[in-house]
Amino acid sequence: MNERNPHAGQPIADDDATIAAALADVSIPTLLLSLVHITGDPSWIRGALRPQGLFLNEVQGFMSEEAKAEARRLALDVIRAYRDGGCKLPPPPGPALIREMMSWLVCTDVPDEYVPMMLEEMELEGRDERAVGWDDAPASARADFPVVVIGCGQSGLLAGIRLREAGIPFTILEKNPGIGGTWWENTYPGCRVDVGNHFYCYSFEPSDHWTEFFSQQPELQAYFESVMDRHGVRPHVRWETEVVGARWDEAKAIWSVRIRRKDGGEETLTARAVISAVGQLNRPQLPDIPGVERFAGPSFHSSQWDHDVDYAGKRVAVIGAGASGFQIVPTIAPDVAHLTVFQRTAQWMFPNPNYHEKVGPGVKWALRHLPFYGRWYRFLLFWPGCDGGLVAARVDPDWKGEGAVSAANEATRQIFTQWITSQVNGDPDLVAKVVPNYPATGKRTLQDNGSWLRALLRDNVEIVRSGIDRIEQDAVVGSDGTRYEVDLIVYATGFQANRFLFPIEVVGRGGAVLSETWGERPAAYLGITVPGFPNLFCMYGPGTNLAHGGSLIFHSECQMRYISGCLKALIAGGHRAMEPTQAAHDDYYQRTQKELAGMVWSHPSIEHSWYKNAEGKIHILSPWRLVDYWSWTREPDLGDFAIS
Ligand code: NAP
Repeated sequence: MNERNPHAGQPIADDDATIAAALADVSIPTLLLSLVHITGDPSWIRGALRPQGLFLNEVQGFMSEEAKAEARRLALDVIRAYRDGGCKLPPPPGPALIREMMSWLVCTDVPDEYVPMMLEEMELEGRDERAVGWDDAPASARADFPVVVIGCGQSGLLAGIRLREAGIPFTILEKNPGIGGTWWENTYPGCRVDVGNHFYCYSFEPSDHWTEFFSQQPELQAYFESVMDRHGVRPHVRWETEVVGARWDEAKAIWSVRIRRKDGGEETLTARAVISAVGQLNRPQLPDIPGVERFAGPSFHSSQWDHDVDYAGKRVAVIGAGASGFQIVPTIAPDVAHLTVFQRTAQWMFPNPNYHEKVGPGVKWALRHLPFYGRWYRFLLFWPGCDGGLVAARVDPDWKGEGAVSAANEATRQIFTQWITSQVNGDPDLVAKVVPNYPATGKRTLQDNGSWLRALLRDNVEIVRSGIDRIEQDAVVGSDGTRYEVDLIVYATGFQANRFLFPIEVVGRGGAVLSETWGERPAAYLGITVPGFPNLFCMYGPGTNLAHGGSLIFHSECQMRYISGCLKALIAGGHRAMEPTQAAHDDYYQRTQKELAGMVWSHPSIEHSWYKNAEGKIHILSPWRLVDYWSWTREPDLGDFAIS
């Protein structure tokens, strides 16, 4: 007998009332697509019941209450019959119908080039298409090709999962005592993801367990822990082990990886290849404000939150309000005596009423039981943030208006401005402080359900937009001389994101030091490989951060498939080493830089941004459409490499 497709849902044994209650909660357009799977009848998407529009995280497609009620009523009959018939499914929809279902769900004709990528992301056939087949690389040769992975966050764990599947021996070295990387380190109050969790998770793992649509840090950390154990990766990880350096041995074609254990002792591991999965956001950036060291009370960086310090009833300063401060402020505001928020640059916010919402039992039921509901839900979260964001981010050289870079960008500015001003009770002082003066999406746009401005409107919260002159023993002094006496300072001032792999000393061919090779301009071919550094592969490397949509997990899955393809080429071909040609690398770098120069993130009106390096240039972000990056990374073009 054929095995049941893992996405076909668990058989239903619930009574009618339970099913009806569950349907009250679900995404109706997604439900209607599940009905197509259950019945094999396309007429569910060819009638009057249909989504009316698309907006990121609006999962009801703007359908009217009447239409949703009608859909629920019809669905109950279908699901009841499906249950009573033993939950048997008809043959799956064919490719043309699937394509029709995609376009129907997102009210857009999904172009041909996106269909294979989305099919792969959705795994409707129940197969993990991003797993690389290893048949042409003998198992004995794989077993003789040890790999070291640096870092055990989401990308390092993914590397471990794929290497284990490949039968390649590997060790993951992690500086922290547990898994998660940024989701291990950032335990500040209010820390949560801002990409919808039913998409921000591995494509090959179930997604029916999330308790919130945008989970908080403990749940995310626990997720990575459980995935690690399900895939047997834990025995391969060495915790509290920091990589100090890595040196390429040309004669032996191996990397010597120098590590420092928790006890301070050092040792050296050898590997045929190294995968860097160190992330971009884990080395705190503390501000260069005079007097920082004079402050007598407790102070810490947002990513090093000291939970022994009780902030309740204290006068607190939060210095910096980007993505981290934006989450900290509303969370601690009700408990502190007074909160002074020092925000150098105002932030654009994307309206998202569900940002703090819990996943109800009905949605969980649907994810668990309704055939392919979870897969279509994933698509519904992915599509609105898939490449459409690039349109509003691209500079139109002919655009003459102020405060925007194109007509689309101006439209975004207006939507965001309206969202902000509608919340501040017409307070002109506050409007002046909280509406950004640079083009929309020029810095990282934050997800917002109104909690930020509600916090700023509290009597015990004050936002200071003037600069900081100095810090004294018991106060932060603004550039206008105002003294703000505080008991506790939180530095939510971001990370040293432009220093890739910092502070690891990576020495490649001919003694070249990677940090010196890169200087202020870190670059890698497809963000993954670097000339002169053979068999070194980066995940979330230069030019791969996403400011226009998608999810870093999606990007990691692209990168790890590509890296697996490189390892397979090395092993199957019996080669010693591969590195990109300088020509392939430089061509990619120049094209990427040219593209980035035409994006809003590079706009000169943006004075401060962690996207920009000391030269004001961007080397962190990908300007590319996700569909292009996906297609370029499906497998390596060996013509781009020098292979020895
Ligand atoms: P950030 O976005 O770089 O924000 C740092 C804040 O500190 C900004 O307000 C910045 O002002 C300010 N600042 C920095 N140096 C300063 C100085 N010398 N004086 C005064 N103010 C200073 O850092 P982050 O909030 O930690 O976030 C970093 C990234 O982590 C995010 O963009 C995002 O990619 C990720 N993140 C994601 C989530 C999530 O998924 N929900 C949550 C947190 C972080 P300027 O704006 O003027 O530079």
